[in-house]
Amino acid sequence: DLVIAVDQGLSGAAFRDRRIVNVTDVTKDDRYVLTAPDVRSEIALPLVTGEAPVGVLLVSSTRTAAFGPDDEHVLTLFADELSAAIANARAYDAQREAALRDDRTGLYNHRYFREALERELARAERHGAALSLLFIDLDDLKGINDRYGHEAGDAVIQRVAKLMTRDRRRTDVAARIGGEEFALLLPETPQADALAIAERLRADAALDAIDVSGERIAFTISVGVATFPDSARDASSLRREADMALYAAKRAGRDRVAAAPRRSRG
Ligand code: GH3
Ligand code: MG
Repeated sequence: DLVIAVDQGLSGAAFRDRRIVNVTDVTKDDRYVLTAPDVRSEIALPLVTGEAPVGVLLVSSTRTAAFGPDDEHVLTLFADELSAAIANARAYDAQREAALRDDRTGLYNHRYFREALERELARAERHGAALSLLFIDLDDLKGINDRYGHEAGDAVIQRVAKLMTRDRRRTDVAARIGGEEFALLLPETPQADALAIAERLRADAALDAIDVSGERIAFTISVGVATFPDSARDASSLRREADMALYAAKRAGRDRVAAAPRRSRG
């Protein structure tokens, strides 16, 4: 593939200066970057949305001086249409992305998590791959709220979100699925690896603390781990198994990780 940097060539000049660059003979213009040997003239039109340049419309001809004022006019109209389409697409993406996120933590929300679980489970089935699910819950958040205030509780929730997203793979999905409940979906991760990740997260949380007006507030988490296909074969059973493991971790004393039992295959 041909790549022209934004500071190179006629397109680079159009992008940088945000104006039309119309060259009647490229062989006499030292800004020109050779793309095809028989190109003689070229016109570059900046694509601008709002203030920011987002791209360049580049048209070449094998004739010299191929682009006159009429062509410039028509191409400008076309470039405006393109710019508007790009701006719309970007706004749509940003809006969709915002609708999928929890704004307090930046994690995905419950709705997105549900979609991701279905999608990743189908993918794991197709590829015969493992899929692990971690349910994470803050220990005694009620006590933190009572002792230090609701804002301190919120800050702890945000810290847990941060720990969850540190060092993650691009394909992992970290979500806030309730007030103080989190899910971490780990594609292509067998149970042993998921347990190691859960244990590291637990240890990170236990060693961590937040600082609220000079006061150090420690916190811990409990984690339940379930893996497809070892512990469950469908989304609702996988959730149930992770939830039961989390409950077991709580009952065993909190600040710990528990795994769902393996089921016999069949
Ligand atoms: P456990 O170890 O059993 O999980 O104890 P817990 O106190 O964390 O759990 P419990 O289910 O008894 O209570 C949940 C608490 O979490 C009570 C609720 O007010 C608090 N909580 C839920 N969402 C938020 C939130 O967004 N911010 C704050 N600060 N607290 C929250
Ligand atoms: Mg809790």
